[in-house]
Amino acid sequence: MHTIDMDLVEMTLDVMKYTIDRISNVTPELGSPKREADLLELVGETITPMGIGGENAFRLFRDVLVKATVPIDHPRHLAFVPAAPTRAAIMFDLVTSASSIHGAYWMEGAGGIFCENQAMKWLVELTGLPKGSFGVFTSGGTAANLSAMVAAREEWRSRDVNNIGHKGLLLTSNGAHSSVQAMARVMDADLIMIDCDGDFLTGKELQQAINELEDKDRKRLFAVVATGGTTNAGIIDDLEGIANTCQKEKVWLHVDCAYGGGALAATSVRHLFNGIEKADSITIDPHKWLFSPYDCGAVIYKNMELAANAHSQKGAYLEIFKDEGAQGFNPSDYQIQLTRRVRGMPLWFSLAMHGTEKYRKAIERGIELAKIAAEKIKQRPYLELVRPSSLSVVLFRRKNWTPENYRDWTYKNHREGLALVTPTKWKSNGEYETISRFCFINPDTTEADIDMILDTMA
Ligand SMILES: *Cc1c(COP(=O)(O)O)cnc(C)c1O
Repeated sequence: MHTIDMDLVEMTLDVMKYTIDRISNVTPELGSPKREADLLELVGETITPMGIGGENAFRLFRDVLVKATVPIDHPRHLAFVPAAPTRAAIMFDLVTSASSIHGAYWMEGAGGIFCENQAMKWLVELTGLPKGSFGVFTSGGTAANLSAMVAAREEWRSRDVNNIGHKGLLLTSNGAHSSVQAMARVMDADLIMIDCDGDFLTGKELQQAINELEDKDRKRLFAVVATGGTTNAGIIDDLEGIANTCQKEKVWLHVDCAYGGGALAATSVRHLFNGIEKADSITIDPHKWLFSPYDCGAVIYKNMELAANAHSQKGAYLEIFKDEGAQGFNPSDYQIQLTRRVRGMPLWFSLAMHGTEKYRKAIERGIELAKIAAEKIKQRPYLELVRPSSLSVVLFRRKNWTPENYRDWTYKNHREGLALVTPTKWKSNGEYETISRFCFINPDTTEADIDMILDTMA
């Protein structure tokens, strides 16, 4: 299987040609899902005792299967949180695979982990956290949030033997990402969501919520999760006020910036994150707004020792690192995963190649596109802005449309290969309304793209 043969050479050429064509194509075909039975009928069973051959398998992928996926970097894919990995990062993702680096321990991964740490140093600088703070790359925001929340819970338990064996409690806002709730379930912690009525959570509201806790619950409170850019609306909590409340109450503050974290590099909005430098931990997803391919998240801690206390794995077969060169940073000590891809390497290469200034500009462009879209919405009599654009998110309504109208419009645009823009829900005056939402990431999205989409709502 590993010997070089002519088939392998041909297959390699096919794969490289496809890769280069794909990353040079700025408007890839907007594919859409098909039923599994239909896909099976189109390609047949692909796993057989003798194999179907690389050329054949690749052809099935290229001609059929990839067309049943939505390219998330399409300039008119403005749904959920799209992505726009740089070409440099994608090419280096291939290099990362080809290099077969185990990213758990310095002993095996030193050179690769060095690259990751260079990129991480820049991320940590963006947060303004004090010296000694650092982080690791994870599979995404969910894993980063879980790693941070577990570190907080373990710190709380280590403070007082009475906390051992008790279920912990988390406080967050109802703008928090669904993964916060899901990960609270994974770690069997209770979660209270503070309703901040479509706005950001303030330190005062947090203080009030803490004051209202029963004594037994106050004792269980081990962390507050604030959001640095809600996924639905781009809203940033009052991090300064929240940090002060957490400091006063001696509660761990985790700031989830999985989506918004890239904007820490954007001078025009950096002040909105003031107070983040007081956090105990922070989540940032480079695969969202830092132009990395999937998957790449990051968790950053103010106190690395507390993270290691929670996550460092001890195993008989893991204790041979005596060589001096093997002494170094072990990413597996600071998050939930042991064996790991050095998934920060594509980000490192792209940052090293382009410089941080290009990143700043590309992120500012997303914010600018959201402002431009908001203006265009205001100019159209059939549309209404729901709230001013926030980071790179725009919420707007088509007057007189029902939820079904939004749904049909989404499917029609997708079917025709024009765009993917999905509806969302927004609560105002206590009621949920279906509205439309843009989220800009790709700096190659043009004003003409925005016009084209808005025109289909007329
Ligand atoms: C996307 C997102 C997450 C989840 O991150 P994944 O990378 O999808 O696991 C968590 N929090 C926020 C605010 C997000 O936007």
